[in-house]
Amino acid sequence: MKTETSDKLYQEAVKYIPGGVNSPVRAYGNVHMSPRFIQGATGPYVFDADGNKYVDYVCSWGPMILGHNNQEVLHAVVRACDNGLSFGAATAIEVEMAKFICENVPAIEMIRMVNSGTEAVMSAVRAARGFTGRNKIIKFMGCYHGHSDCLLVKAGSGVMTAGIPDSAGVPKGCTEDTLSAVYNDLNSVEELLDNNKDQVAAIIVEPVAANMGVVPPKEGFLQGLRRLCDKHQALLIFDEVITGFRLGFTGASGKYQVRPDLITYGKIIGAGMPVGAYGGRKEIMEMVAPCGPVYQAGTLSGNPVAMAAGLTQLKYLYNNPKIYEDLTAKGEKLYGGMQELLRRYQVPYTVNYVDSLGCMFCTPQEVGNYAQAKTSDTAAFADYFAWMINHGFHLASSQFEAMFLSEAHTDEIIDDTLNTVEDYLRERKD
Ligand SMILES: *Cc1c(COP(=O)(O)O)cnc(C)c1O
Repeated sequence: MKTETSDKLYQEAVKYIPGGVNSPVRAYGNVHMSPRFIQGATGPYVFDADGNKYVDYVCSWGPMILGHNNQEVLHAVVRACDNGLSFGAATAIEVEMAKFICENVPAIEMIRMVNSGTEAVMSAVRAARGFTGRNKIIKFMGCYHGHSDCLLVKAGSGVMTAGIPDSAGVPKGCTEDTLSAVYNDLNSVEELLDNNKDQVAAIIVEPVAANMGVVPPKEGFLQGLRRLCDKHQALLIFDEVITGFRLGFTGASGKYQVRPDLITYGKIIGAGMPVGAYGGRKEIMEMVAPCGPVYQAGTLSGNPVAMAAGLTQLKYLYNNPKIYEDLTAKGEKLYGGMQELLRRYQVPYTVNYVDSLGCMFCTPQEVGNYAQAKTSDTAAFADYFAWMINHGFHLASSQFEAMFLSEAHTDEIIDDTLNTVEDYLRERKD
């Protein structure tokens, strides 16, 4: 596969952009390659600067759940552009967006738009602290909640791959109120709550962890968190930046029938435009300025072009609920197929998946938390990644990221993918 143009662009990029990328997860350092520069995309495919075509399992890290270049979304964006890009003032489409989500997601009574998942989580934590008058928060090792200071503690995703437990530049004071628990281990949560009586404002969790690879919640884990929060008068925040509008329209809170106090969104809610949001119980959201004393603002928040993209995608999903059944079936076919191949070729790797989210861990161990995810052989992953990308399958360049399926991934494409995985396993065995 010819990669001259990408390689040249990368040499140029590293001169002007740290590491040549605007987000570390885009670099190919973990797999010892230089990144492919993407020029365009359509449906399930992306095309790089050298004209190579790939089946895309990154899907912009989740937003492109309808596939790339969905015509309805694109047309909505173009129509919105005709009226101007930004006004910094209230617009009708923001009301429509908020109303649509409040009416269709039971846990959301009021919602505020922001510009990224990071901002959404940062603001939700502030609202939780303002509402409870408490400072401490409990997060889980391996869960990623964006790059705001107080949450860069034992984070997943790019931080996990780089092996950086924390980030330089984050003062100790910023993280001293952040407590870390073990995912899927309610005892570890209870212990923190008992040792910090009446001090914990909130527990924040990825209801399906998807930034340490994919780690599903064990039976009763999310319900247990709800119970512990009620017992200790702490708030429960579901970070649904990945799972929101993906595991069904009502996300993980709907799928697992657990009602959090606050939910954060990103990714799918913007359909590829920079959008995040946080919402939940009205009495908490009414703490936010200008209603209440918790300050949070944004020059471009609720941007009309971004809202047009996001709202069109959300309405499309809501009006076509069969997409979710299809996505679950595609997930079963792809990830179940991978499990079957691993068994057949006697390669002791672990595949975890929930509906359309999945990942293969290069470890024989069951993966239910961060420590278990870390037992993965990242060199083996790099070998697998190189095979896949050079055969036209665009995966995230890290062991600790999810694969994302979209409506545009057909059964035929999934069969092609499985055949390529099988070729890899056969070669690897020889
Ligand atoms: C991607 C992600 C974030 C951060 O969102 P950005 O838009 O990248 O700031 C937060 N939480 C989770 C669970 C995510 O996957």
